[in-house]
Amino acid sequence: MSEERGFEFHPGDAPLLVSVPHDGRAIPEAIAGRMTEHALELPDTDWHVARLYAFCRGLGASLLVARCSRYVIDLNRPPDDGALYRGQMTTGLCPTMSFAGLALYRDGEEPDSSEIRERVSKYWEPYHARIADCLNAMVEQHGHALLWDAHSIASEVPLLFEGRLPVLNIGTNGGASCAAPLRDAVSAVANESPFSLVTDGRFRGGYITRHYGDPARGRHAIQLELAQRAYMDERLRLYDEDRAARLAGTLAGMLAAFANSAAALYGSR
Ligand SMILES: [Zn+2]
Repeated sequence: MSEERGFEFHPGDAPLLVSVPHDGRAIPEAIAGRMTEHALELPDTDWHVARLYAFCRGLGASLLVARCSRYVIDLNRPPDDGALYRGQMTTGLCPTMSFAGLALYRDGEEPDSSEIRERVSKYWEPYHARIADCLNAMVEQHGHALLWDAHSIASEVPLLFEGRLPVLNIGTNGGASCAAPLRDAVSAVANESPFSLVTDGRFRGGYITRHYGDPARGRHAIQLELAQRAYMDERLRLYDEDRAARLAGTLAGMLAAFANSAAALYGSR
């Protein structure tokens, strides 16, 4: 990977930012050379999420997509690497193990704390600076800012959760990251869709949702974790245009409900 910045950003004019922190596939050579074959297959990527959400630019949303793999740095973890889900197995800021519990680095090749700090300043900080700038500008211009953190995961990950994940996993950190009328409007659209749904279940929202969601200051954040079977062939990791189009219709309705309920709450400006 070149030294250029570690994300793609497409600005929009609506007070809505869609963040895609885990669909990046790039691994700098100096890191890749120390990784296992298992790691280089990138099994824990949020496959094709950026492609799935391409429609959001037509709604006026801004779109921020990480280029780096989550194995280089996980943008949805706190920079001090504190535990995200207390008492539950989770992967860290610079993970050394995959969701399958297999090593990502060859023996003795794991990053040390100074390398981790370097990755934070090179990749983590610019991504988060862009989110912060974008939300600040929205609040200034529109009086509020909406953040949608877009994710996906394999339908079955025995080390992380039991059984088969519902398709739509809405996370608002138990209601703390988003005002209730906004969460209810989004959940209502999801409820009427053909897809299974849970709100604030196993995936309540990671660092991005929790850190930026601050309803008292006009900032509302929702994480949507999708089960990958809803838009791709999980075994072959191939995008399925037909399934994806059906799911994207529901996602567009959820994003519109998020934006419209906020406009109603704040009065459009
Ligand atoms: Zn993710």
